[in-house]
Amino acid sequence: MCFVFLTQTRELLFDMTSLLTFPKGGVHPPEAKERTASLAIETMPVPDELEVILGQHIGAPCTPTVAAKAEVREGDIIGEVTKGLGVPLHAPVAATVKGVFQSAHPMRVSAPALLLVTNSEIPAVRYSRLDWELCGRDELLKKVHGAGIIGIGGAGFPSHVKLNPPPDNPVDTLILNGAECEPYITADHRQMLEFSQEIVEGARVILKILGIKDCRIGIENNKPDAIAAMTKAAAAASSASAQITVHPLKVKYPQGSEKQLIQSITGRKVPAFALPSAVGVVVHNVSTTKAIHDAIVLGKPLYEKVMTVSGKGISRPANLLVKVGTRVSDIVAYLGGVTPALAKIVMGGPMMGFAISTLDIPVTKTTSSVLFLAEDEIDTRPHSQCIRCGWCVEACPMGLEPKEVAIHVEADRAQDTAQFGVFECFECGCCAYVCPAKRPLVQFMRLAKMKAKR
Ligand code: SF4
Ligand code: SF4
Repeated sequence: MCFVFLTQTRELLFDMTSLLTFPKGGVHPPEAKERTASLAIETMPVPDELEVILGQHIGAPCTPTVAAKAEVREGDIIGEVTKGLGVPLHAPVAATVKGVFQSAHPMRVSAPALLLVTNSEIPAVRYSRLDWELCGRDELLKKVHGAGIIGIGGAGFPSHVKLNPPPDNPVDTLILNGAECEPYITADHRQMLEFSQEIVEGARVILKILGIKDCRIGIENNKPDAIAAMTKAAAAASSASAQITVHPLKVKYPQGSEKQLIQSITGRKVPAFALPSAVGVVVHNVSTTKAIHDAIVLGKPLYEKVMTVSGKGISRPANLLVKVGTRVSDIVAYLGGVTPALAKIVMGGPMMGFAISTLDIPVTKTTSSVLFLAEDEIDTRPHSQCIRCGWCVEACPMGLEPKEVAIHVEADRAQDTAQFGVFECFECGCCAYVCPAKRPLVQFMRLAKMKAKR
């Protein structure tokens, strides 16, 4: 968790407009997207080596299906989940397998990964358009699984499971998440501008799988060009069987969180611990929808990632298309190195991302950004005692009481915090962001979740 902005006035934190939004809590940090919002996605050259982490999704990690010295083509399966929830893993490049090594990881310190050495002598793979409309629902679902598609906007949940909701929860609405509410990140913004037709075709694929016709695309109102591009593409792709509409959202963090987005767009409230299908909704990120398009329409598995590299600490900010497994060090070298201003590196956004201490970490399917932040982009003030201002309670979109949880954890009573709804906390960071005492409230919530009994 990294908080990069100094606490601001309450007027800035809790602004009021009439656009679609969720009713409780939320904050409006400085958007800081101007450095990369207008930069077209550029394809980064393939590095000499890639480290493909075997556990990229929620569920069981993959077991390698290739041995050292094997030669693989781009898109070949290199790992499978043998038991439990998961999706296969594919070679991001034509390569020679070097073996399984421990790779640096932003959250788990290290994780097993396949080390691949790029091999330009292996012929390139070309993808061409398939007539997916002839495929039945089960065949489409199988292809989504086979292409290794997971929720690449954040959590990494296998998409084929989301697309197959339980029969006792009939779904009537598909929501595409184009909110991109985290500061700095512009990867989804650029994809909505540059791949609007692919995203709405991906939406048509999902509607066919779900057997419904209502798709609503939620986009924060700070991306008017993306709203215009997606509205045009949606109108062109809509038909009697696929009604795709765009819904501008108030700029308020965490607008892109699943439960908040559903409430903003449909008014439906997902009960505690329930899935969106409990209120008849399935949510997919726009970048995941683009990946579903590529898998179904082109037959291309998921092994590349559009990500934002930004902050005052990187010489050349960019929106990059990179191969999964590319090390951050290779990205830094490609972008001309870091600047003398660099003070902190964060993988992910400033609200929910993780500070990293090595550039050896490789990009995964869920990496949306790497931020190179200068001293004036981070908040280094030490935390102090709670002054009981109640701002954290007001900011929490789940209506929780972070201050009470923190007090219990500090008093070694973390096991008694279930009464404060700690398991509903999704670690958005709003509470810590507004806290004038700079209390590490998200860390307290994490500790409470580890020790409390459900
Ligand atoms: S934890 Fe921070 S925001 Fe919450 S009441 Fe205490 S001082 Fe205020
Ligand atoms: S308690 Fe959890 S859900 Fe509520 S604001 Fe803090 S991090 Fe977000």
